[in-house]
Amino acid sequence: TGTVETLEFQSEARQLLQLMIHSIYSNKDIFLRELVSNASDALDKLRLETYRDKDLQAETDNLHIEILLDAEARTLTVRDNGIGMSRDDVVNLIGTIAKSGTADFLRKLKESKESAGQDLIGQFGVGFYASFMVADKVTLVTRRAGTGEGVRWESAGEGTYTIESLSDAPQGTSVTLHLKPADDEDHLYDYTSPWKVREIVKRYSDFITWPVQMAKEGEEGGLETVNSMKALWARAKDEVSDEEYHEFYKHISHDWTDPLETVRMQAEGTFEYQALLFLPSRAPMDLFMRDAKRGVQLYVKRVFIMDDCEALMPNYLRFVKGVVDAQDLSLNVSREILQQDRQIRAIRRRLEKKILSTVKTMMTEDAEKYATFWSEFGRAVKEGLIDDPENREQILEISSFDSTHHADKPTSLRDYVSRMKEGQEHIYYLTGDSRTVIENSPHLEAFRAKGYEVLILTDPVDEMWTEPASGFDGKTFQSVAKGEVDLGDETSEEKKAEYEDLLKWMSATLSDTVKEVRLSSRLTTSPSCIVGDAGDLTPTLEKMYRAMGQ
Ligand code: ADP
Ligand code: MG
Repeated sequence: TGTVETLEFQSEARQLLQLMIHSIYSNKDIFLRELVSNASDALDKLRLETYRDKDLQAETDNLHIEILLDAEARTLTVRDNGIGMSRDDVVNLIGTIAKSGTADFLRKLKESKESAGQDLIGQFGVGFYASFMVADKVTLVTRRAGTGEGVRWESAGEGTYTIESLSDAPQGTSVTLHLKPADDEDHLYDYTSPWKVREIVKRYSDFITWPVQMAKEGEEGGLETVNSMKALWARAKDEVSDEEYHEFYKHISHDWTDPLETVRMQAEGTFEYQALLFLPSRAPMDLFMRDAKRGVQLYVKRVFIMDDCEALMPNYLRFVKGVVDAQDLSLNVSREILQQDRQIRAIRRRLEKKILSTVKTMMTEDAEKYATFWSEFGRAVKEGLIDDPENREQILEISSFDSTHHADKPTSLRDYVSRMKEGQEHIYYLTGDSRTVIENSPHLEAFRAKGYEVLILTDPVDEMWTEPASGFDGKTFQSVAKGEVDLGDETSEEKKAEYEDLLKWMSATLSDTVKEVRLSSRLTTSPSCIVGDAGDLTPTLEKMYRAMGQ
């Protein structure tokens, strides 16, 4: 045993801990879900590590999770014999928060009122730190598999923690919570009750594929497994409750909010697999960050193989969470092999189609749900219009856009087309920074006057997909700010002659800045406007390229 060092939590970590200590989250039971979830991840990692590194000196017998209760000492311990942590791991993983979006989250929290904090915690999820909702001190003892040195970490969550080396510690991690004094008015606090703890495990962690064991009642030294360990995707569809699906979702996604939609798939035959997928109800904070997690988990015959399996989900659907369990892959399969694998590509195509059709159904059967989906993920989904020409029509089908038809309700293209006026050939749109800017644009005047609906596109990605636009339902997309827009009432030859001199003079005067000055029918009240050539970049796109230094 070495010397005890006292270290400080990173400042973001400190702020989150304060939130936990003053426990603003109403459902405190979930601390146990988080600890069991971490223990399960640690066992998964150990199994993978032993596949990859045949020389690893690790114990792999009797891998399990154990929960020990001591009513007298008022402690609860969750122990696993998984991968464990080195001293550096403990400092980096437990003493700091590397989760992307943390700074963002804390800023929002500061801006929000006290009561909104609760909701934000639910969105963010705090994992291990949830322990401090119920404990006034936490002790963690761990040893990384294959190494000799153990570590003891302890903290009351108040700014600092202590850390010391141990010469002797079992492989894996044990986390002991010194529970806060029982609150008489609130029996929820009694986390030393075997009955209560068993119930929480059943509720939140039943599907964990490792045994979660507790002392057998009335039998000295005996242990019993509390969870069924049954993979949800291997059970009959109607045998699994929504709540079970939701808890499973939380385990794999590290999200604290219920998913919006659950999707199950099964394929039999030459290449057998099962998939259990979820559409989250909120976009993760890193959805548009470069290092964002993407893809689903891959299992082979019930064995966890990898997280974020990008080969199984196209990038524009990176927010989809879930599990794919394939029967006929090798346990040693690598990311590189997966990218090349023909069958994996086939699975990916089917998953993609299934997600698109699920959203389509949602659109017709539950408009409110669809609206939530679209406002959270629409921006990402539209990337598919550029990345995935093969499914473009289907993606357009499930997309919706702001339009001049309605002040705050987006429209589907189907609905737009059904409202098209006699003689209207194109689907008109205008891109810009905001709805207000677009609505005040002189480009809209003539369209408004004719009663033509115009899509209002304000996402940066809209600049990209409208470019190679092939169209929708046989109608092409046409920017109202570009080229000659034929609104059917050509300016007469007479008028052209009348203004010829003025136009010549203007063209000459403005020759450095514009290509041509011409008479237009697109304006009703504004005297003039600037129009791009059909092949030109739009102003927003020009700005984007300039910002990227091109
Ligand atoms: P998350 O699980 O979302 O990563 P947590 O706060 O729950 O966040 O845990 C932080 C990290 O600490 C984990 O990613 C893991 O690397 C490490 N960790 C936590 N518990 C254990 C454990 N029982 N065994 C090994 N590592 C663990
Ligand atoms: Mg966790």
